[in-house]
Amino acid sequence: MKNLVILGGGYGGMRLLQRLLPNQLPEDIEITLIDRVPYHCLKTEYYALAAGTIADQHIRVPFPEHPRLTIKYGDVTSIDIENNLVHLNNQDPITYDDLVIGLGCEDKYHNVPGAKENTYSIQSINNSRLTYQKLNNLAPGAQVAIVGAGLSGVELASELNESRPDLNISLFDRGQHILSMFPERLSNYVENWFTERHITIINGANITKVEPNVLYNHDTPMDFDIIVWTAGIQPNQVVQQLDVEKDAQGRVVLTIQHNLPTNEHVYVVGDCASLPYAPSAQLAEGQAEQIVQVLLKRWNNEEPPSEFPPIKLKGILGSLGKKHGFGLVADRPIIGRVPRLLKSGVLWMYKYHNG
Ligand SMILES: Cc1cc2nc3c(=O)[nH]c(=O)nc-3n(C[C@H](O)[C@H](O)[C@H](O)COP(=O)(O)OP(=O)(O)OC[C@H]3O[C@@H](n4cnc5c(N)ncnc54)[C@H](O)[C@@H]3O)c2cc1C
Repeated sequence: MKNLVILGGGYGGMRLLQRLLPNQLPEDIEITLIDRVPYHCLKTEYYALAAGTIADQHIRVPFPEHPRLTIKYGDVTSIDIENNLVHLNNQDPITYDDLVIGLGCEDKYHNVPGAKENTYSIQSINNSRLTYQKLNNLAPGAQVAIVGAGLSGVELASELNESRPDLNISLFDRGQHILSMFPERLSNYVENWFTERHITIINGANITKVEPNVLYNHDTPMDFDIIVWTAGIQPNQVVQQLDVEKDAQGRVVLTIQHNLPTNEHVYVVGDCASLPYAPSAQLAEGQAEQIVQVLLKRWNNEEPPSEFPPIKLKGILGSLGKKHGFGLVADRPIIGRVPRLLKSGVLWMYKYHNG
């Protein structure tokens, strides 16, 4: 038997399992999935978990079951590509014939002193739970800083406002408008939504230092009861340590077939992979579909596709609490209740197909 080892049961890892396990897995292949969490987590909903508007169980999906799937619960510490080994914390290493690395991303602190040590995070399930506890134990009137007004920061601020309208929320962003990657009409709608709800937006921010409960904006200290960091991402630490070619964001450079240029048995999927799009769950899934095609061909001793059509991305949807939202669908901005309903629908469909 040959062993396909998948590191990380996130959006990319799960899509591989969904496509291979039901009826496509060749008889001589077995799969080992390694994850530090015993179920698939819906990372796109971590903002709601941290704000306290959904239950933890609501964003868990069980890993699939199959006679040739082994699920290994553990923490990957490093990958030895020379010797086909995955090292785990306090467990024997795992050997692989083929490896897919889908370990996702973590916060990027842009070398801001104290940011890592003194801020809360929503990039992992564990960190989101810690953030939830802290946010929901705050006294009425407490001051909350959220650094970074991209999709995650905006969704967290709006959801927290609904969960705890008694808190004072300040949203810091570098740009002249929040959600700077969206058209201005959409940013204006979201900024107005925040202003009406007394959420403070600080545009043109430059966070220069963070100390316990103190945020320095342009070197001016400001006191907060909690500071949450949503100001950037980078590939998982295990991938950061890999001695392979990376792009400017630290993501692994791959061939068209999504394997390392130096090793056709090592693939990278999702947030750790260098692709011509911003990282997203949809992208991880689309890439996983292509990796499945490559694996099936190679296992059958056939040439894999020499090119693929561009990965189809359906657009972006963001929530502003439970009733409003915004999005870009077919490059057109949409605002109001419709994008919020669409977002709930997408989540429902995902859980229906995976649960
Ligand atoms: C608040 C928020 C909202 C978002 N909203 C959207 C959205 O609306 N639409 C969208 O498309 N994308 C969204 N994203 C981005 C999306 O969640 C990611 O792009 C997607 O999760 C990437 O998938 P992945 O398979 O690369 O990794 P992940 O889904 O992050 O999975 C990584 C897996 O690896 C495991 N893991 C990590 N390190 C280790 C280790 N050392 N050992 C063992 N296991 C490990 C983790 O437990 C996890 O299961 C959002 C992200 C956030 C934080």
